[in-house]
Amino acid sequence: MNTMTFHDQFIHRHIGPNAAELQEMLAVIGASSLEKLIEETVPAAIRLKAELELPQALSEFEYLRELETIAAKNQVFRTYIGLGYYGTITPSVISRNIFQNPGWYTQYTPYQAEIAQGRLEALLNFQTMVSDMTGLPIANASLLDEGTAAAEAMAMFHGVKSKKSKTAHTFLVSDQVFPQTIDLLITRAQPLDIKVVVKPVADFVLDENCFGILLQYPAGNGAVEDYRALTEEAHAKEIAVTVCSDLLALALLTPPGEWGADAVVGNSQRFGVPMGYGGPHAAFFATKDEYKRLIPGRIIGVSVDNHGKRALRMALQTREQHIRREKATSNICTAQALLAIMAGMYAAYHGPQGIKAIAQRVHGTTQILAKNLQALGYSQKNQHYFDTLLIETDAKTQQAIQTAALAAGINFHYPAGAVQITLDETVLASDLNAIIEVFAKVKNQPVQPSLTGVAAPQIPVALQRESEFLTHPVFNSYHTESKMMRYIKRLENRDLSLTHSMIPLGSCTMKLNAASELMPVSWPAFANLHPFIPTNQAGGYLQIFEELEAYLCACTGFDACSLQPNSGAQGEYAGLLTIRAYHEANGNTHRNVALIPSSAHGTNPASAVMAGMEVVVVSCDEQGNIDVDDLRAKAEKYSANLSALMVTYPSTHGVFETRIKEICALIHEHGGKVYMDGANMNAQVGLTSPAEIGADVCHLNLHKTFAIPHGGGGPGMGPICVNNSLKPFLPKHALVATGGDKGIHAVSAAPWGSASILLISYGYVRMLGQVGVKASTEYAILNANYIKARLEGQYEVLYTGEKGRSAHELIIDLRPFKAVISAEDVAKRLMDYGFHAPTLSFPVAGTIMIEPTESESQDELDRFCEAMLQIRLEIDGIATGEADPKSNVLSNAPHTADLVTADEWPYSYSREKAAYPLPYLRQGFKFWPSVSRIDNAYGDRNLICTCPPVEAYAE
Ligand SMILES: *Cc1c(COP(=O)(O)O)cnc(C)c1O
Repeated sequence: MNTMTFHDQFIHRHIGPNAAELQEMLAVIGASSLEKLIEETVPAAIRLKAELELPQALSEFEYLRELETIAAKNQVFRTYIGLGYYGTITPSVISRNIFQNPGWYTQYTPYQAEIAQGRLEALLNFQTMVSDMTGLPIANASLLDEGTAAAEAMAMFHGVKSKKSKTAHTFLVSDQVFPQTIDLLITRAQPLDIKVVVKPVADFVLDENCFGILLQYPAGNGAVEDYRALTEEAHAKEIAVTVCSDLLALALLTPPGEWGADAVVGNSQRFGVPMGYGGPHAAFFATKDEYKRLIPGRIIGVSVDNHGKRALRMALQTREQHIRREKATSNICTAQALLAIMAGMYAAYHGPQGIKAIAQRVHGTTQILAKNLQALGYSQKNQHYFDTLLIETDAKTQQAIQTAALAAGINFHYPAGAVQITLDETVLASDLNAIIEVFAKVKNQPVQPSLTGVAAPQIPVALQRESEFLTHPVFNSYHTESKMMRYIKRLENRDLSLTHSMIPLGSCTMKLNAASELMPVSWPAFANLHPFIPTNQAGGYLQIFEELEAYLCACTGFDACSLQPNSGAQGEYAGLLTIRAYHEANGNTHRNVALIPSSAHGTNPASAVMAGMEVVVVSCDEQGNIDVDDLRAKAEKYSANLSALMVTYPSTHGVFETRIKEICALIHEHGGKVYMDGANMNAQVGLTSPAEIGADVCHLNLHKTFAIPHGGGGPGMGPICVNNSLKPFLPKHALVATGGDKGIHAVSAAPWGSASILLISYGYVRMLGQVGVKASTEYAILNANYIKARLEGQYEVLYTGEKGRSAHELIIDLRPFKAVISAEDVAKRLMDYGFHAPTLSFPVAGTIMIEPTESESQDELDRFCEAMLQIRLEIDGIATGEADPKSNVLSNAPHTADLVTADEWPYSYSREKAAYPLPYLRQGFKFWPSVSRIDNAYGDRNLICTCPPVEAYAE
């Protein structure tokens, strides 16, 4: 034993089963060793011959020490670049109790609404806040970034107009929209044959070819302009008006919703979410009532439970890509729930007066700066502004200011012929002094700052906000820290997260999100960098990107990586666009057919359509494998126009298809490329790889396989890895050099997406190292096969490999019990047992898909299996007539504490059977759902998606 090694290697913290458990579990499974089990699971033809080229593991302590030296290579300047990213003060009560709290960040997307009422309320608050600030009635629960939100609006209004006009394809965009947003619009417009025309607003020509316009308010250069007449003209011509805006500015400005805008989008980052060198933060999307059924992304709505109690859930879910597939207009799945929750809490903590005071302070500070710069002889171009000054300069002065600013540790924005300065709530008097000093120095003048005397607002009277906002009690009740802390905790207590029990979500890989991986995300050297600073100030980040890209290439077997996409679905979209660009570069613009197996996740066809492809569905056989004959027939039929196959591996049925190499080769023979959906990489890393099976490109859901938490529905990251044939086409960025030489336009607003959370995946690989990363895959397979062995006989397991093994997940068929119960009944009943349901009815209706991950130990797996086996007995009880077929523990699940403790008990079974069906529940594992089963249809018929005026909010 080397005395220099740490006894507590991270691998033993991350992986659940210990050595003794491993042996017991293998015995139950009936495998002689772990290696043997893996051999029986992963086909020999695709096994990697060599170990992954990854570094050796570091202990948590060693990792954090090393990360400190990397962090020191980032320089945290005072940054006034603006352009959608601002300094902000995260209230410590929010930082500590939400951002750094696994009770919040390890939650899953709130599909099981009865055990998600806390985050659903927090997201409803976010929607209400967005609706209030923008002056529009409907808002969604977040999108990935401002650029994506603008692109979604463009796509939505194009879809609306196409029902009336076959010729209106022009989207007129103000040249004062942020450059990264314009870049993203171009990406999204090209495959959809939308023409993006960028011009000064004064030159807009609203003709019959135009379906929509996009404005930025305040404008990209900081000017506050009056767009009311333009909006009226647009409406007279049935042209939709979308406005990119800033929630803080809207505390002082007349909101676009009040002057007629049809949609308002933007970034809520400056409501208390650190910049994080680009993200994550929550974009917002608000619109008029008439578009409520077209709005992209998730909307939280109000409904009732089966006892008539108010209850929240995701509304209008039938619009989601899962259901609409190639008819979906957006592929958004993972969004930015955690960050939306933080922004909503920021509004709740500050309240309307607080938000207004922050806006006034920012505006006042900006006015003081303007006065001082004018006194120094500089000319400020914007007659009206909120937080941004545009100082006209010649090139020489601009250069001199930049040099002096850098020397003083300050970043401004430098558009042609100007210096642009955007202030925020973090600016202190000393910061103002430092800025003024830079400008004085360039003019060789003495510094005599005058920091008082704010005049009237520099906002036209007609555009000064008069309407109230944030009037709901939720924004007026929690202004002391005690109250806010308790409100956050009260909501957290309604939500089941990984802090309670395993969340065995097939395809979603809810593994450990280790504290040592998460902690550095809050370090100022990572949290407080603006995405558009000169890259030489981000040396630490660049090192991490370079190393992480190399790790991800090692894991996938590919040659290059783009860290830009902000989610798995965005990765799919980006990857397909590189394929499209590749075919175009080879003169094959006609290649536009995407073959997609019927078992694919709904985002696959949705992304393909967004990438301008025509979707052809390939059928699957009874074992859940791709029907190779059907694939061959379709590859031949569409040979001339074949663009790509999208394939998930192991399949969404949790099976390593043995014919995968043949499948990929077939596509290549017909000139197509193979896109592999990487959601199931947790079954591959270290054992096989996308390159090994013959794919050309894949995305990795870092929020599944690489330990980024799900955050209750985001953030996530979906980088793509490609082979050399696609490398030249990796996405670029308008403001920062990245991507391939023939790279496509950007797919995210920030060059490296949600950069700060890449740290989590980086830490995951560094602390597990070559051995631990592979072991994670092996133990994930072990755990799934253990559950299979324990449940088999009582439940039918669908789709196993040729040797009867499942991969890292398994599907249990509940259709045999259809006459007695539904799959949903089982999902809801699991709540009474303290568990979150597995994935429900995907990829097969009437089934549940269980994915335990490597992080769960044997006792946790056993508790889950006991619950499942007990539920099986309950089903039998109904089948034999012992239990009431209409009113039983399953049909009435989940049972709330209110119900179980009420004087009235209307059921034929006991309260104990309802709430404590197994002994372990009395040993501290009970979790109480806060509402009974929710009526989804009621809420969709009566759509309410802002906070209703209800007594429940009263303190
Ligand atoms: C999760 C998942 C996706 C989508 O990923 P997001 O990050 O939610 O956009 C795509 N395909 C499969 C199979 C998935 O499980």
